[in-house]
Amino acid sequence: MNLINGELVVGDGESLSVVNPATGESIVNVSEASTEQVNAAAAAAAAAFPRWSATPPSTRAGYLLALAAAIEEHSEELAALESLNCGKPLHSTRSDELPLIVDVIRFMAGAARCVSGSNAGEYVSGFTSMIRRDPVGVVGSIAPWNYPLMMAAWKLAPALAAGCPVVLKPSELTPLTTLRVAGLAAGLFPKGVVNVVVGRGATTGNALISNRLLDMVSLTGGPATASRILQASSQHLVHTHMELGGKAPVIVFSDADMTAVVEGIRGVSFFNAGQDCAQPCRLYVEEKVYDNFVADLASRVASIALGSPKDPRTEMGPLISERHRQHVAGFVDRARALGHTEILTGGREVWGDGYFYEPTIVANARQGDEIVQREVFGPVISVTRFSGAEQAIQYANDSAYGLASSIWTRDVGNAMKIASRLRCGMTWVNAHGIATAEMPHGGMKASGYGSDMSVYALENYTTVRHVQISHA
Ligand code: NAD
Repeated sequence: MNLINGELVVGDGESLSVVNPATGESIVNVSEASTEQVNAAAAAAAAAFPRWSATPPSTRAGYLLALAAAIEEHSEELAALESLNCGKPLHSTRSDELPLIVDVIRFMAGAARCVSGSNAGEYVSGFTSMIRRDPVGVVGSIAPWNYPLMMAAWKLAPALAAGCPVVLKPSELTPLTTLRVAGLAAGLFPKGVVNVVVGRGATTGNALISNRLLDMVSLTGGPATASRILQASSQHLVHTHMELGGKAPVIVFSDADMTAVVEGIRGVSFFNAGQDCAQPCRLYVEEKVYDNFVADLASRVASIALGSPKDPRTEMGPLISERHRQHVAGFVDRARALGHTEILTGGREVWGDGYFYEPTIVANARQGDEIVQREVFGPVISVTRFSGAEQAIQYANDSAYGLASSIWTRDVGNAMKIASRLRCGMTWVNAHGIATAEMPHGGMKASGYGSDMSVYALENYTTVRHVQISHA
């Protein structure tokens, strides 16, 4: 059910089937919020703004801590629902995702109370100036399907902590955990502070981004949706916050601990079936170790266990939909047809129930190949040779995207030098993708702007203001 002005209400719009991607069967039908319901949610948020923005940070923190406690208390139920709706292995959802989701909300509760900034002072004699950081206003948040509950936490917590009421729209493919959180939030927050509307992008999403009561739209999603939001915002000039895709380069030097690289890639590149914007997917391997490295990697990746998300032995679940599986397969088929690439392992759909696709390595890829340049968003990685650090940096930066990256070497000076030259929002050395609530998640170039998590996310939902007082 949608959460509008503190009430849980059935959508007045079209009925949508929510599918279990591991079986292809419908789990439940959900009715999407109509334009009138979206408008009512935005009006409720706008009405809640004066009081919520004036609520002391310690009190706002209390509400967020109550939400974190409720999610923690229901974590087993939420993990099971997330796994069912997304096809994620249950054990991983429970132990890899839920703790960070709860921690991000708790972090933002604390951060709400210690926003920092420039000193007040007499910058012009006879006048005292001070900086305020005030909430930006009513926020419309739009989330993708790959980490629905995590994205709900990343969107809701910093906005609420900053004093902004939110209207959140989860993806129509994976709304179930967000709707459950809406049920929990309904009993915790004042009316209108948290609103959740479910539905497709072209209907419910479009109604949300077109609503003139919004002061900001925050998106985690693809570039086409970002363009739509920017077009809509050009009509009524709202703030925007964009977390878009990625094509993370991984630079492997010959002095790296090769076992650590192979195990790191095996674990992180195929996590969530590769449907992750920070996924390490563009491997650049120094020429002299290339052959041994790809052979080791292929044998380890071939051993990844696909299966039912409920099975504790399963390491990788299905893709989100048949449409997305065909999208992923298309990239691999076109890469195979080039002639110079080699599919070392995988490269095929797994026929049967659900939308499974084999973990895949496309070796001998060239820098200009589509598989190196475009986001696949699936369990597919490319491997390309490089010779010398300059070529590695040039390849890594030769991308429309700039989200995540990693450097694997035992030479700390080399790693520092390269990290300073990569044009990506996040760089790991001898690791990839480790997230923590205190550190920002965000990109540059076509990967978007603004941060999720950390104090920088909280700042994104505020506006800096100058107040000057005359002594006269
Ligand atoms: P998407 O852009 O198709 O959908 C994202 C959300 O936008 C969904 O809720 C969808 O309903 C909504 N939407 C679509 N069209 C809309 C419109 N016209 N108006 C308003 N809302 C609209 O993306 P997706 O397929 O759900 O997610 C995959 C994409 O998200 C990938 O490109 C991926 O890289 C990106 N992503 C980025 C991050 C990050 O943090 N940078 C994290 C996860 C996913």
